[in-house]
Amino acid sequence: MSYQEKLSEAITNVIEPAARLVDREGKFPRDGVTALGAAGILGLTVPTSHGGAGAGLAEAADAVRRVSGACGSTAMVLTMHFAATAVLTAHGPDTVVRAIAEGRHLTTLAFSENGSRSHFWAPVSTARTHGDSVILEAQKSWVTSASQADSYVWSSRPLTGEGPMTLWLVSSDAPGLSIPFAFDGLGLRGNASSPVTADSVRVAPDARLGEDGTGLDIAFGAALPYFLILNAACSVGQMEAVIARTITHLTGSKLEHLGQTLAEQSGLRQGLARMRITADSARVLLDDTVAALAAGREDAQLRLLEVKAAAAEAAIEVTDLAMTVCGGSAFRTDLGIERSFRDARAARVMAPTTEALRDFIGRALCGLPLM
Ligand SMILES: Cc1cc2nc3c(=O)[nH]c(=O)nc-3n(C[C@H](O)[C@H](O)[C@H](O)COP(=O)(O)OP(=O)(O)OC[C@H]3O[C@@H](n4cnc5c(N)ncnc54)[C@H](O)[C@@H]3O)c2cc1C
Repeated sequence: MSYQEKLSEAITNVIEPAARLVDREGKFPRDGVTALGAAGILGLTVPTSHGGAGAGLAEAADAVRRVSGACGSTAMVLTMHFAATAVLTAHGPDTVVRAIAEGRHLTTLAFSENGSRSHFWAPVSTARTHGDSVILEAQKSWVTSASQADSYVWSSRPLTGEGPMTLWLVSSDAPGLSIPFAFDGLGLRGNASSPVTADSVRVAPDARLGEDGTGLDIAFGAALPYFLILNAACSVGQMEAVIARTITHLTGSKLEHLGQTLAEQSGLRQGLARMRITADSARVLLDDTVAALAAGREDAQLRLLEVKAAAAEAAIEVTDLAMTVCGGSAFRTDLGIERSFRDARAARVMAPTTEALRDFIGRALCGLPLM
C-alpha cells in the first residue's frame, strides 16, 4: 500500500471520527498522531539515508492539506512536526531522526516567548554553560503539542556567539520544564498549544543544533519554508472542507414554500462562487510557491513570504462567507462550519503574523533588509 493510501485510511478511520471530540473537549489528537506515524507520515520528509521516505515540501503540503480537511488541530500538530523535523534532519542526532522516520517521535517548534511575543527572531530566553552542561531558562508563550511531543526544537539567545539565536533539542520530559496553564483557545482547540516554562533546564552541550549564534539562519533556512508552506496548506485544506460542507448544505436544504433548494438562490450561489475563487487563488499560489522553491526560481523567496499570509487571509474570508451563505445553520456545530471559522483564524496570528509578512514583503519589494 502506498503512503497516500495509508494516509487516506488514517484520515477516514481515525482522524475524521475523532475530529469533533478533539475540538469540543480540546483533546490532543493522540490516536491521529499514532496513526500518522504508522502510515509513515511523521517520517515522510526524513531522508532515506536515515530511514525516512525522502519526500519534500510538495508531499508534506499535500499530506497536511488532506489532514486539515478532516481536523485542523491534527494538521497543525503535523505542520509543526514537519517544520521541526527539517531542523533535526539537518542538525539533529541520528537516533532522534531515525525515531521520527519510524513514526515513534513527534517534535515541534518552541520559538515564541513572553518577552519577544510573535517576533521569534529576537529571543530573550537564555542559555549558559554550567560545568559540563548547558542551562536553559525561558518563558515560551506558545508551543503546539506542548508536553505531548517527544521533543522541542528550542530557541534561546546564544551562549557566547554572535547572532541573535541558538537552537537546542530539548526533551519534553526534561526536569525543570513545566506548563503554567493548559491551552483553551478559540480554534485549533486540540493543539495543546500551551506556554512552557524552563526553570534551569539542563541539557548536554551536544543538544545544540548547529553552531552557537546561527539559530536564526537555521530557522529561516530549514524550518521557515516548511512552516510557511504547510501553514498555508492547513488553510487550503480548511477552505476545501468548508466549501464541501457549504455545497452539501445548499443542495440538501429545502425552501418548502418555493419548492426549491437553497442552491437555487442566485445570491447564495454567488457567495459559494466567491468562496471557490478565493480558495482556488490561494491553492494556485501554494502550488506555485512549492514549484518556485523546487526550481530555485528567482521569485521563490517572495512567494514564500506571500503564501502563508495569502492563504490565512483567504481562509478567514472563505469561512466567514460560509457563515453567511449557510446562515443560522452554520452557527450550529453539526455542520462543522463554525469550527472551520474558528480554526482558520489562528494562521493570521501565528508568527510570522500576516502583519509581519506584509511588512517583510513591502521591504523586499523596496529593496530594504527584511529586519
Ligand atoms: C494555535 C496556535 C499555535 C501556536 N503554536 C506555536 C508553536 O508551536 N511554536 C511557537 O513558537 N509559537 C506558536 N504559536 C505562537 C505564534 O507563533 C505567535 O507567537 C503568537 O500567536 C503571538 O501571540 P501574541 O499575543 O504574543 O501576539 P503579539 O506578538 O503581541 O502580536 C499582536 C500584534 O502585534 C504585532 N507585533 C508584535 N510584535 C511587534 C513588534 N515588535 N513591532 C510591531 N508589531 C508587533 C503582531 O504582528 C500582531 O499583529 C502559536 C499560536 C497559536 C495561536
